[in-house]
Amino acid sequence: MKIVRSKAELRKEIAEPRRQEKRIGLVPTMGYFHDGHLSLMRGARRDCDVVVVSLFVNPTQFGPGEDLDSYPRDEDRDAELAAVEGVDILWTPDAKQMYPEGFATAVEVANSLTGVLEGDPENRGPSHFRGVTTVVAKLFNAVQPDVAYFGRKDAQQALVIERMTRDLDFPVEIEVLPTVRDEDGLALSSRNAYLSPEEREQATAISRALRAAERAAGAGETSVPALVEAVRDELRNSGIEPEYVEARAAEDLSPIAELNGRPLLVAVAARVGKARLIDNVVINTTEA
Ligand code: AMP
Repeated sequence: MKIVRSKAELRKEIAEPRRQEKRIGLVPTMGYFHDGHLSLMRGARRDCDVVVVSLFVNPTQFGPGEDLDSYPRDEDRDAELAAVEGVDILWTPDAKQMYPEGFATAVEVANSLTGVLEGDPENRGPSHFRGVTTVVAKLFNAVQPDVAYFGRKDAQQALVIERMTRDLDFPVEIEVLPTVRDEDGLALSSRNAYLSPEEREQATAISRALRAAERAAGAGETSVPALVEAVRDELRNSGIEPEYVEARAAEDLSPIAELNGRPLLVAVAARVGKARLIDNVVINTTEA
């Protein structure tokens, strides 16, 4: 595996495979790899001739007071894990490369997708997704992948990136792969590193709460507010006060009051100790 730091080196490494029309896969990450990241790398390895992983803790998607400085980092360990997965190129640009002096451009997807859930001004706010789409557009331009891999764990992010890709005609297929969880249900996240053993135990309530909503829907509950309440109940039982619990149409995040055959995204954000955790499920129902 080659570790490259500059865009010039990256370009040099992918020039030849691109000339040979090899299929190039990109896995964008912020590092501190866990099995969720590795599953994306495996997906890319299965489908592509050349696998590029970018590792960049993108400052523009962190708000003031968020955990940019304390975000977990371990590049040596990440490089070893990526090499084991057969990654060809690990690209680790620094902030000066990505945002040189005078950088002034942003890519922004409209409010209906970016102003709700994570992007609600009460939560992380729309500047979070502006940071995400701007950096992902830059990664796409630098790597020019045929396909890019994202995790369902960040369901809204995946939707926003799909929309940006379509709207700006990036010739990139977007693959969204399932959320990888620990045995106790907790969705893997680099931020789980912040949790003490007690907090980690408490955090399992998040996936339990989402399963409670799935179970309620499976048992015939069609009221979306009732499904949201089932999630809140389970969180309350474990002493978790969520930042939000929301249920919206999984394909465009529009509001839904009643299950009507359209897939429903049920999403939670909650702070447990120092970690702000997010998780979601998509409930598929057949029309009543
Ligand atoms: P991050 O490094 O947290 O920005 O994540 C990089 C990519 O990995 C994103 O596309 C995430 O959605 C994905 N990812 C993070 N956690 C998981 C997980 N538990 N399961 C599947 N994908 C994940």
